[in-house]
Amino acid sequence: MTRINSTQSASSQLDRRSLQAVWHPCTQMKQHETYPLVPIVRGKGVWLYDDAGNRYLDAISSWWVNLFGHSNPAINAAIRDQLEKIEHVMLAGFTHEPVVALSERLKQITPGSLGHCFYASDGASAIEIALKMSFHYWQLCGKPQKNSFISLQNDYHGETLGALSVTDVAIFKQTYAPLLRPCTHVPTPDWRYAETGESAEAYALRAADALDHYLAKNHAHTAAFILEPLVQGAAGMGMHHPVYLQRARTLCDQYQVHLILDEIAVGFGRTGTLFACNQADIAPDILCLSKGLSGGYLPLSVTMTTDTIYQAFYDDNVARAFLHSHSHTGNALACRAALASLDIFAQDNIIETNKTKATYLNRIAAKLATHGRVRNFRNCGMIWAFEVDTALQDFATACFQAGLQHQLLLRPLGKTVYFMPPYVIEEPEMDLLIDGTLHILDTLSA
Ligand SMILES: *Cc1c(COP(=O)(O)O)cnc(C)c1O
Repeated sequence: MTRINSTQSASSQLDRRSLQAVWHPCTQMKQHETYPLVPIVRGKGVWLYDDAGNRYLDAISSWWVNLFGHSNPAINAAIRDQLEKIEHVMLAGFTHEPVVALSERLKQITPGSLGHCFYASDGASAIEIALKMSFHYWQLCGKPQKNSFISLQNDYHGETLGALSVTDVAIFKQTYAPLLRPCTHVPTPDWRYAETGESAEAYALRAADALDHYLAKNHAHTAAFILEPLVQGAAGMGMHHPVYLQRARTLCDQYQVHLILDEIAVGFGRTGTLFACNQADIAPDILCLSKGLSGGYLPLSVTMTTDTIYQAFYDDNVARAFLHSHSHTGNALACRAALASLDIFAQDNIIETNKTKATYLNRIAAKLATHGRVRNFRNCGMIWAFEVDTALQDFATACFQAGLQHQLLLRPLGKTVYFMPPYVIEEPEMDLLIDGTLHILDTLSA
Protein backbone atom coordinates (compact mmCIF):
# COMPACT_ATOMS: atom_id res chain seq x y z
CA MET A 1 0.00 0.00 0.00
CA THR A 2 1.38 3.41 -0.89
CA ARG A 3 0.99 6.63 0.96
CA ILE A 4 -0.67 9.64 -0.56
CA ASN A 5 2.27 11.56 -2.02
CA SER A 6 4.72 8.71 -1.87
CA THR A 7 7.68 9.74 -3.97
CA GLN A 8 10.76 7.76 -4.85
CA SER A 9 12.86 10.27 -2.95
CA ALA A 10 14.20 10.33 0.56
CA SER A 11 11.17 8.44 1.84
CA SER A 12 11.94 5.04 0.41
CA GLN A 13 15.63 5.60 1.20
CA LEU A 14 14.99 6.04 4.88
CA ASP A 15 12.55 3.15 4.91
CA ARG A 16 15.15 0.85 3.32
CA ARG A 17 18.00 2.00 5.56
CA SER A 18 15.83 1.60 8.64
CA LEU A 19 14.83 -1.94 7.71
CA GLN A 20 18.48 -2.85 7.28
CA ALA A 21 19.76 -1.29 10.48
CA VAL A 22 16.92 -0.90 12.98
CA TRP A 23 15.04 -3.69 14.73
CA HIS A 24 11.67 -2.02 15.33
CA PRO A 25 9.69 -2.61 18.54
CA CYS A 26 6.65 -4.86 18.77
CA THR A 27 6.97 -5.65 15.07
CA GLN A 28 7.22 -8.74 12.89
CA MET A 29 9.90 -7.22 10.68
CA LYS A 30 8.96 -9.37 7.69
CA GLN A 31 5.61 -7.58 7.48
CA HIS A 32 7.55 -4.56 6.25
CA GLU A 33 8.11 -6.42 3.00
CA THR A 34 4.45 -5.50 2.43
CA TYR A 35 4.00 -2.32 4.46
CA PRO A 36 6.50 0.53 4.24
CA LEU A 37 7.70 2.33 7.35
CA VAL A 38 6.58 5.93 7.68
CA PRO A 39 9.63 8.19 7.89
CA ILE A 40 8.75 11.16 10.11
CA VAL A 41 10.81 14.28 9.69
CA ARG A 42 9.01 16.71 11.99
CA GLY A 43 6.00 17.22 14.22
CA LYS A 44 3.88 20.16 15.30
CA GLY A 45 0.98 19.95 17.71
CA VAL A 46 -1.15 16.90 16.91
CA TRP A 47 0.49 16.52 13.50
CA LEU A 48 3.35 14.31 12.33
CA TYR A 49 4.89 15.06 8.92
CA ASP A 50 6.65 12.55 6.71
CA ASP A 51 9.39 13.33 4.21
CA ALA A 52 6.98 13.23 1.27
CA GLY A 53 4.91 16.04 2.78
CA ASN A 54 2.03 13.93 4.10
CA ARG A 55 0.71 14.65 7.55
CA TYR A 56 -0.84 12.34 10.14
CA LEU A 57 -2.97 13.28 13.12
CA ASP A 58 -1.33 11.53 16.07
CA ALA A 59 -4.58 10.14 17.51
CA ILE A 60 -2.73 7.82 19.90
CA SER A 61 -0.21 10.37 21.21
CA SER A 62 2.73 8.32 19.91
CA TRP A 63 2.04 5.27 22.08
CA TRP A 64 0.20 7.22 24.77
CA VAL A 65 3.07 9.48 25.81
CA ASN A 66 2.42 12.90 24.28
CA LEU A 67 0.30 15.39 26.19
CA PHE A 68 0.77 18.87 24.72
CA GLY A 69 1.64 18.19 21.12
CA HIS A 70 4.86 17.62 19.26
CA SER A 71 7.44 20.37 19.30
CA ASN A 72 5.63 22.22 22.06
CA PRO A 73 7.20 25.71 22.35
CA ALA A 74 7.18 25.84 26.18
CA ILE A 75 8.69 22.38 26.65
CA ASN A 76 11.22 23.01 23.89
CA ALA A 77 12.31 26.23 25.60
CA ALA A 78 12.68 24.54 29.00
CA ILE A 79 14.87 21.79 27.55
CA ARG A 80 17.00 24.33 25.65
CA ASP A 81 17.49 26.33 28.82
CA GLN A 82 18.47 23.24 30.80
CA LEU A 83 20.84 22.13 28.04
CA GLU A 84 22.96 25.21 28.68
CA LYS A 85 23.25 24.34 32.38
CA ILE A 86 23.67 20.60 32.87
CA GLU A 87 22.32 17.83 30.66
CA HIS A 88 22.91 14.94 33.05
CA VAL A 89 24.74 14.08 36.21
CA MET A 90 24.64 10.84 38.19
CA LEU A 91 22.13 10.94 41.02
CA ALA A 92 24.09 8.91 43.57
CA GLY A 93 26.03 11.38 45.69
CA PHE A 94 24.82 14.30 43.55
CA THR A 95 21.60 16.17 43.06
CA HIS A 96 20.28 19.04 40.92
CA GLU A 97 17.50 21.60 40.86
CA PRO A 98 15.21 19.95 38.25
CA VAL A 99 15.05 16.59 40.07
CA VAL A 100 14.44 18.25 43.44
CA ALA A 101 11.80 20.63 42.10
CA LEU A 102 10.04 17.81 40.21
CA SER A 103 9.98 15.56 43.30
CA GLU A 104 8.49 18.39 45.37
CA ARG A 105 5.87 19.10 42.74
CA LEU A 106 4.94 15.44 42.33
CA LYS A 107 4.49 15.11 46.08
CA GLN A 108 2.12 18.11 46.02
CA ILE A 109 -0.07 16.94 43.15
CA THR A 110 -0.32 13.21 43.87
CA PRO A 111 -2.89 11.91 46.38
CA GLY A 112 -1.96 10.79 49.88
CA SER A 113 1.58 11.37 51.09
CA LEU A 114 3.86 9.91 48.46
CA GLY A 115 6.86 11.91 49.56
CA HIS A 116 9.72 9.86 48.13
CA CYS A 117 10.50 9.74 44.41
CA PHE A 118 12.73 7.04 42.92
CA TYR A 119 13.51 7.69 39.25
CA ALA A 120 14.21 5.51 36.22
CA SER A 121 13.83 5.92 32.48
CA ASP A 122 11.04 3.62 31.33
CA GLY A 123 7.70 2.51 32.65
CA ALA A 124 8.79 -1.11 32.96
CA SER A 125 11.72 -0.05 35.15
CA ALA A 126 9.35 1.84 37.45
CA ILE A 127 7.37 -1.40 37.83
CA GLU A 128 10.50 -3.44 38.56
CA ILE A 129 11.39 -0.91 41.23
CA ALA A 130 7.92 -1.02 42.78
CA LEU A 131 7.97 -4.83 42.95
CA LYS A 132 11.47 -4.99 44.42
CA MET A 133 10.67 -2.23 46.90
CA SER A 134 7.52 -3.95 48.13
CA PHE A 135 9.17 -7.36 48.48
CA HIS A 136 12.22 -5.81 50.18
CA TYR A 137 10.02 -3.82 52.56
CA TRP A 138 8.33 -6.99 53.85
CA GLN A 139 11.70 -8.67 54.19
CA LEU A 140 12.97 -5.74 56.25
CA CYS A 141 9.86 -6.02 58.41
CA GLY A 142 10.57 -9.68 59.16
CA LYS A 143 7.95 -11.04 56.75
CA PRO A 144 10.05 -12.57 53.94
CA GLN A 145 7.22 -15.01 53.18
CA LYS A 146 5.30 -12.05 51.69
CA ASN A 147 7.05 -12.51 48.35
CA SER A 148 4.37 -12.92 45.69
CA PHE A 149 2.37 -10.46 43.66
CA ILE A 150 -1.11 -10.37 42.27
CA SER A 151 -2.49 -8.25 39.45
CA LEU A 152 -5.68 -7.95 37.43
CA GLN A 153 -6.65 -10.34 34.68
CA ASN A 154 -5.66 -8.63 31.37
CA ASP A 155 -3.35 -6.15 33.13
CA TYR A 156 -0.28 -4.79 31.35
CA HIS A 157 2.75 -3.52 33.26
CA GLY A 158 5.59 -3.59 30.72
CA GLU A 159 7.82 -6.20 29.19
CA THR A 160 10.96 -6.66 31.24
CA LEU A 161 10.87 -9.99 33.06
CA GLY A 162 9.56 -8.74 36.41
CA ALA A 163 6.97 -6.47 34.81
CA LEU A 164 5.98 -9.23 32.39
CA SER A 165 5.44 -11.59 35.33
CA VAL A 166 2.63 -9.37 36.62
CA THR A 167 1.33 -8.72 33.08
CA ASP A 168 -1.54 -10.84 31.77
CA VAL A 169 -1.52 -10.30 28.00
CA ALA A 170 -0.86 -13.62 26.29
CA ILE A 171 0.70 -12.25 23.10
CA PHE A 172 3.52 -10.61 25.06
CA LYS A 173 3.84 -13.21 27.77
CA GLN A 174 3.33 -16.73 26.42
CA THR A 175 6.71 -17.18 24.73
CA TYR A 176 8.62 -16.14 27.82
CA ALA A 177 6.49 -17.99 30.38
CA PRO A 178 9.35 -20.30 31.51
CA LEU A 179 11.40 -17.23 32.48
CA LEU A 180 8.69 -15.61 34.59
CA ARG A 181 7.61 -15.80 38.23
CA PRO A 182 4.13 -17.14 38.80
CA CYS A 183 1.57 -14.42 39.49
CA THR A 184 -2.13 -14.72 40.26
CA HIS A 185 -4.40 -12.55 38.13
CA VAL A 186 -7.63 -11.80 39.97
CA PRO A 187 -10.85 -11.21 37.97
CA THR A 188 -10.93 -7.90 36.15
CA PRO A 189 -13.65 -5.32 36.90
CA ASP A 190 -13.65 -4.39 33.15
CA TRP A 191 -17.36 -3.82 32.48
CA ARG A 192 -17.20 -5.50 29.07
CA TYR A 193 -17.30 -8.75 31.05
CA ALA A 194 -20.46 -7.82 32.98
CA GLU A 195 -23.62 -9.89 32.61
CA THR A 196 -26.34 -8.36 30.45
CA GLY A 197 -28.19 -5.85 32.60
CA GLU A 198 -25.47 -5.76 35.26
CA SER A 199 -24.20 -2.23 35.95
CA ALA A 200 -20.49 -1.36 35.79
CA GLU A 201 -20.62 -0.69 39.51
CA ALA A 202 -22.29 -3.99 40.40
CA TYR A 203 -19.80 -5.84 38.25
CA ALA A 204 -16.84 -4.02 39.84
CA LEU A 205 -18.15 -4.98 43.29
CA ARG A 206 -18.42 -8.59 42.21
CA ALA A 207 -14.79 -8.50 41.01
CA ALA A 208 -13.81 -6.94 44.35
CA ASP A 209 -15.46 -9.85 46.16
CA ALA A 210 -13.19 -12.21 44.24
CA LEU A 211 -10.20 -10.14 45.37
CA ASP A 212 -11.46 -10.41 48.95
CA HIS A 213 -11.72 -14.20 48.69
CA TYR A 214 -8.23 -14.47 47.25
CA LEU A 215 -6.63 -12.25 49.87
CA ALA A 216 -8.46 -13.92 52.75
CA LYS A 217 -6.70 -17.16 51.82
CA ASN A 218 -3.39 -15.88 50.49
CA HIS A 219 -2.49 -12.56 52.14
CA ALA A 220 0.27 -14.11 54.28
CA HIS A 221 2.46 -14.69 51.21
CA THR A 222 1.25 -11.72 49.13
CA ALA A 223 3.49 -8.65 49.06
CA ALA A 224 1.44 -6.42 46.78
CA PHE A 225 -1.54 -6.05 44.50
CA ILE A 226 -0.61 -4.13 41.36
CA LEU A 227 -3.18 -2.83 38.91
CA GLU A 228 -3.95 -0.34 36.18
CA PRO A 229 -6.60 1.91 37.73
CA LEU A 230 -9.77 2.79 35.72
CA VAL A 231 -8.44 1.88 32.27
CA GLN A 232 -6.57 -1.30 31.32
CA GLY A 233 -4.74 0.02 28.27
CA ALA A 234 -3.14 -2.89 26.45
CA ALA A 235 -6.20 -5.04 27.22
CA GLY A 236 -8.01 -2.84 24.70
CA MET A 237 -8.88 0.15 26.88
CA GLY A 238 -11.06 -1.88 29.23
CA MET A 239 -12.71 0.50 31.66
CA HIS A 240 -14.00 -0.07 35.17
CA HIS A 241 -15.94 1.68 37.89
CA PRO A 242 -13.89 3.56 40.53
CA VAL A 243 -15.67 1.69 43.32
CA TYR A 244 -13.30 -1.20 42.57
CA LEU A 245 -10.35 0.96 43.59
CA GLN A 246 -12.04 1.93 46.83
CA ARG A 247 -12.65 -1.71 47.69
CA ALA A 248 -9.10 -2.66 46.66
CA ARG A 249 -7.71 0.02 48.98
CA THR A 250 -9.81 -1.21 51.90
CA LEU A 251 -8.92 -4.86 51.29
CA CYS A 252 -5.19 -4.14 50.94
CA ASP A 253 -5.29 -2.30 54.28
CA GLN A 254 -7.27 -5.08 55.90
CA TYR A 255 -4.90 -7.82 54.71
CA GLN A 256 -1.64 -5.85 54.93
CA VAL A 257 -0.83 -6.00 51.25
CA HIS A 258 0.71 -3.08 49.36
CA LEU A 259 -1.46 -1.41 46.77
CA ILE A 260 0.69 -0.50 43.75
CA LEU A 261 -1.05 1.68 41.18
CA ASP A 262 0.41 1.65 37.69
CA GLU A 263 -0.64 5.07 36.37
CA ILE A 264 2.02 4.97 33.65
CA ALA A 265 -0.63 5.30 30.94
CA VAL A 266 -3.56 6.82 32.84
CA GLY A 267 -1.74 9.44 34.92
CA PHE A 268 -1.55 13.14 34.05
CA GLY A 269 -5.14 13.79 33.10
CA ARG A 270 -5.84 10.88 30.76
CA THR A 271 -8.90 9.68 32.67
CA GLY A 272 -10.31 13.17 33.25
CA THR A 273 -8.69 13.75 36.65
CA LEU A 274 -5.02 14.41 37.18
CA PHE A 275 -4.62 10.83 38.43
CA ALA A 276 -7.06 7.98 37.95
CA CYS A 277 -7.11 7.18 41.67
CA ASN A 278 -8.46 10.70 42.34
CA GLN A 279 -11.82 9.42 41.10
CA ALA A 280 -11.93 6.87 43.92
CA ASP A 281 -10.48 9.31 46.41
CA ILE A 282 -7.78 6.85 47.41
CA ALA A 283 -3.97 6.81 47.47
CA PRO A 284 -1.70 3.85 46.78
CA ASP A 285 1.30 2.73 48.82
CA ILE A 286 3.38 2.88 45.66
CA LEU A 287 2.60 4.88 42.52
CA CYS A 288 4.32 4.33 39.15
CA LEU A 289 4.37 7.15 36.59
CA SER A 290 6.02 7.54 33.18
CA LYS A 291 4.79 8.18 29.59
CA GLY A 292 3.14 11.62 30.02
CA LEU A 293 5.42 12.48 32.94
CA SER A 294 7.86 14.31 30.66
CA GLY A 295 5.06 15.46 28.37
CA GLY A 296 6.09 12.43 26.31
CA TYR A 297 9.34 14.12 25.37
CA LEU A 298 12.07 12.11 27.05
CA PRO A 299 12.32 8.74 28.77
CA LEU A 300 11.51 9.32 32.42
CA SER A 301 9.69 7.28 35.03
CA VAL A 302 9.21 7.55 38.74
CA THR A 303 8.18 5.21 41.54
CA MET A 304 6.71 7.20 44.42
CA THR A 305 6.17 5.84 47.88
CA THR A 306 5.12 6.60 51.43
CA ASP A 307 7.19 7.48 54.44
CA THR A 308 6.33 4.11 56.00
CA ILE A 309 8.02 2.21 53.19
CA TYR A 310 10.90 4.67 52.94
CA GLN A 311 11.65 4.52 56.66
CA ALA A 312 11.99 0.73 56.64
CA PHE A 313 15.08 1.14 54.44
CA TYR A 314 16.53 4.06 56.42
CA ASP A 315 19.28 2.59 58.58
CA ASP A 316 22.96 2.59 59.50
CA ASN A 317 23.26 -0.71 57.71
CA VAL A 318 24.06 -0.24 53.99
CA ALA A 319 22.62 -3.66 53.20
CA ARG A 320 19.17 -2.40 54.26
CA ALA A 321 19.31 0.31 51.58
CA PHE A 322 17.47 0.04 48.27
CA LEU A 323 20.50 -0.80 46.13
CA HIS A 324 18.94 -0.27 42.73
CA SER A 325 20.02 2.14 40.01
CA HIS A 326 19.79 3.03 36.36
CA SER A 327 22.43 5.12 34.57
CA HIS A 328 20.03 7.87 33.57
CA THR A 329 18.13 8.04 36.85
CA GLY A 330 16.78 11.56 37.35
CA ASN A 331 18.07 12.90 34.04
CA ALA A 332 18.07 16.69 34.23
CA LEU A 333 16.71 17.34 30.72
CA ALA A 334 13.85 14.91 31.26
CA CYS A 335 13.03 16.44 34.65
CA ARG A 336 12.95 19.93 33.10
CA ALA A 337 10.58 18.68 30.40
CA ALA A 338 8.38 17.25 33.18
CA LEU A 339 8.40 20.54 35.08
CA ALA A 340 7.46 22.45 31.92
CA SER A 341 4.63 19.99 31.31
CA LEU A 342 3.32 20.48 34.88
CA ASP A 343 3.47 24.26 34.34
CA ILE A 344 1.19 23.87 31.32
CA PHE A 345 -1.32 21.89 33.42
CA ALA A 346 -1.48 24.74 35.92
CA GLN A 347 -1.34 27.72 33.55
CA ASP A 348 -3.80 26.45 30.97
CA ASN A 349 -6.21 24.80 33.43
CA ILE A 350 -5.88 21.61 31.38
CA ILE A 351 -8.19 19.32 33.38
CA GLU A 352 -11.10 21.75 32.84
CA THR A 353 -10.23 22.53 29.21
CA ASN A 354 -10.08 18.81 28.47
CA LYS A 355 -13.64 18.39 29.78
CA THR A 356 -14.91 20.83 27.15
CA LYS A 357 -12.91 19.04 24.46
CA ALA A 358 -14.19 15.64 25.58
CA THR A 359 -17.78 16.89 25.51
CA TYR A 360 -17.31 18.11 21.95
CA LEU A 361 -15.69 14.86 20.82
CA ASN A 362 -18.46 12.79 22.43
CA ARG A 363 -21.06 14.89 20.62
CA ILE A 364 -19.53 14.47 17.17
CA ALA A 365 -18.75 10.81 17.87
CA ALA A 366 -22.45 9.97 18.28
CA LYS A 367 -22.47 8.74 14.65
CA LEU A 368 -19.61 6.43 15.48
CA ALA A 369 -21.19 5.14 18.69
CA THR A 370 -24.33 4.12 16.81
CA HIS A 371 -22.52 2.75 13.73
CA GLY A 372 -23.70 -0.75 12.82
CA ARG A 373 -20.27 -2.31 13.29
CA VAL A 374 -19.32 -0.51 16.49
CA ARG A 375 -19.68 -2.24 19.87
CA ASN A 376 -19.11 -0.98 23.43
CA PHE A 377 -18.37 2.64 22.52
CA ARG A 378 -16.85 4.06 25.69
CA ASN A 379 -15.05 7.11 26.99
CA CYS A 380 -13.05 7.95 30.08
CA GLY A 381 -11.54 11.44 30.16
CA MET A 382 -9.34 11.78 27.08
CA ILE A 383 -9.57 8.10 26.08
CA TRP A 384 -12.18 6.73 23.67
CA ALA A 385 -12.50 3.12 22.53
CA PHE A 386 -14.82 0.70 20.76
CA GLU A 387 -14.75 -2.78 19.30
CA VAL A 388 -15.36 -3.29 15.59
CA ASP A 389 -17.50 -6.18 14.46
CA THR A 390 -15.50 -7.36 11.46
CA ALA A 391 -14.54 -10.61 9.77
CA LEU A 392 -11.25 -9.11 8.55
CA GLN A 393 -8.37 -11.33 9.67
CA ASP A 394 -5.85 -8.59 10.36
CA PHE A 395 -8.16 -5.71 11.09
CA ALA A 396 -5.54 -3.83 13.12
CA THR A 397 -3.07 -3.63 10.24
CA ALA A 398 -5.77 -2.82 7.68
CA CYS A 399 -7.12 -0.05 9.88
CA PHE A 400 -3.65 1.38 10.51
CA GLN A 401 -2.94 1.45 6.76
CA ALA A 402 -6.35 2.95 5.96
CA GLY A 403 -5.76 5.52 8.68
CA LEU A 404 -2.61 6.76 6.95
CA GLN A 405 -4.69 7.33 3.80
CA HIS A 406 -7.00 9.53 5.86
CA GLN A 407 -4.23 11.52 7.57
CA LEU A 408 -4.73 9.58 10.78
CA LEU A 409 -2.36 7.66 12.99
CA LEU A 410 -4.62 4.94 14.45
CA ARG A 411 -3.18 1.73 15.82
CA PRO A 412 -5.97 -0.59 16.93
CA LEU A 413 -5.37 -3.23 19.59
CA GLY A 414 -6.83 -6.25 17.82
CA LYS A 415 -10.39 -5.24 16.97
CA THR A 416 -10.43 -2.37 19.44
CA VAL A 417 -10.05 1.08 17.90
CA TYR A 418 -9.12 3.80 20.36
CA PHE A 419 -8.37 7.50 20.42
CA MET A 420 -5.94 8.95 22.93
CA PRO A 421 -5.14 12.32 21.34
CA PRO A 422 -2.74 14.95 22.63
CA TYR A 423 -4.59 17.50 24.78
CA VAL A 424 -3.84 20.27 22.27
CA ILE A 425 -6.29 18.76 19.78
CA GLU A 426 -8.78 21.37 18.47
CA GLU A 427 -12.33 21.01 17.15
CA PRO A 428 -11.49 20.87 13.40
CA GLU A 429 -8.95 18.15 14.15
CA MET A 430 -11.52 16.21 16.15
CA ASP A 431 -13.92 16.53 13.19
CA LEU A 432 -11.25 15.12 10.91
CA LEU A 433 -10.60 12.27 13.33
CA ILE A 434 -14.25 11.22 13.55
CA ASP A 435 -15.02 11.68 9.83
CA GLY A 436 -11.89 9.77 8.87
CA THR A 437 -12.67 6.93 11.25
CA LEU A 438 -16.24 6.66 9.90
CA HIS A 439 -14.86 6.48 6.36
CA ILE A 440 -12.41 3.79 7.35
CA LEU A 441 -15.12 1.69 9.01
CA ASP A 442 -17.32 1.95 5.93
CA THR A 443 -14.44 1.11 3.57
CA LEU A 444 -13.10 -1.79 5.61
CA SER A 445 -16.46 -3.37 6.22
CA ALA A 446 -17.78 -2.86 2.69
C1 LIG B 1 3.43 1.55 28.69
C2 LIG B 1 3.08 0.93 29.98
C3 LIG B 1 4.06 0.34 30.81
C4 LIG B 1 5.50 0.18 30.38
O1 LIG B 1 6.15 1.38 30.11
P1 LIG B 1 7.42 1.36 29.12
O2 LIG B 1 7.93 2.76 29.18
O3 LIG B 1 6.88 0.99 27.77
O4 LIG B 1 8.36 0.36 29.65
C5 LIG B 1 3.67 -0.16 32.03
N1 LIG B 1 2.40 -0.08 32.43
C6 LIG B 1 1.44 0.49 31.70
C7 LIG B 1 0.04 0.57 32.23
C8 LIG B 1 1.73 0.99 30.44
O5 LIG B 1 0.77 1.49 29.66
